[in-house]
Amino acid sequence: MEAGHIKGILRVRPNVQDIPTDRLTVVDSGEGATVLVRKRGGSTGDLLKFNFWRALEGATQEETYKTVGAPLVNAALEGYNATILAYGQTGSGKTYTMLGPEDYNIGDPDFKGIMPRALDHVFGELRRGKFVTWTVKLTYIEIYNESFRDLLEPRATDISLADSNPRGNGTISLRGVQHVEIQSVTEALHYLRKGQVGRHVGSHTMNDRSSRSHTVLTLWLDTTDDRNVNLKSKLNLIDLAGSERIWKTGAVGHVAREASYINKSLTSLAMVVNELKKKMPHVSYRNSKLTHFLKDSLGGNCKTLLIANVWGDERYMDETVATCRFADEIQ
Ligand code: ADP
Ligand code: MG
Repeated sequence: MEAGHIKGILRVRPNVQDIPTDRLTVVDSGEGATVLVRKRGGSTGDLLKFNFWRALEGATQEETYKTVGAPLVNAALEGYNATILAYGQTGSGKTYTMLGPEDYNIGDPDFKGIMPRALDHVFGELRRGKFVTWTVKLTYIEIYNESFRDLLEPRATDISLADSNPRGNGTISLRGVQHVEIQSVTEALHYLRKGQVGRHVGSHTMNDRSSRSHTVLTLWLDTTDDRNVNLKSKLNLIDLAGSERIWKTGAVGHVAREASYINKSLTSLAMVVNELKKKMPHVSYRNSKLTHFLKDSLGGNCKTLLIANVWGDERYMDETVATCRFADEIQ
């Protein structure tokens, strides 16, 4: 896949309480995918049409990794900054896709998601001896209400972004966050589990806060091959906050504030991508913490995939359409 553009992948989760819809039709030719949604009460000609790079319906975790994870991990090993974003309403399968099922032993082979599979893949390649020297560092953070939290050290304060060239193509690093050097998948999984504990700290006061924060696992790769070529790249694996428009339900107080911050980062993401597509002289990365963090990982010489997670359930068709629209617009 070429660098620069975002590619969208639709993943339709299975229904649980089965109100299957006949309004959603997914066609994936292998070279491109089309998603058709018939409007409520509409006739067969009344269709909304969205385009995706690929669409996955009933796909296993392994198939999902082959389609979405593997190409991006290969890109990161070739020196590209590579990012996978999981987008969608709460309950649509973002965490399942990125990490694995709820309350699950992270790394358990059967259902593991993209994060543990990417670790297997990276260390598999590194151990094959392609590089003479390599280091892998891992950071695991959360962005909640426009502030950073270190999931590996939840008490850490004073976390900020460092931008090596704020007016140009600076590289972004994290200050005040634990960067752990990892030598193996086992070690990395230890930190993923530790991060899950960190994710739940403080969440008792705010019911399921994890659905309202962005979780960002980053592998910072530094490799040198036998021709002395040194490559530095980042692999960002991001479980975004739920995209449902909480404000529509008339939320007040902190819930409304959370919703406006979520909106801010998700609309900033769309805005930044559009500015990059139009090659605008100024790109508003700094409008949100999420886009500022991704400044050196979007556009240009980067590879980015957005997984649009949706339900194929009649009850959620409005959000499914909103998710498809978002994904279609940013590609
Ligand atoms: P989100 O992170 O988007 O809020 P989750 O990933 O937590 O959603 O998914 C909600 C529930 O549905 C979880 O119990 C999860 O294990 C289950 N689930 C999601 N996607 C799938 C899938 N493709 N296959 C089976 N179960 C799924
Ligand atoms: Mg989740």
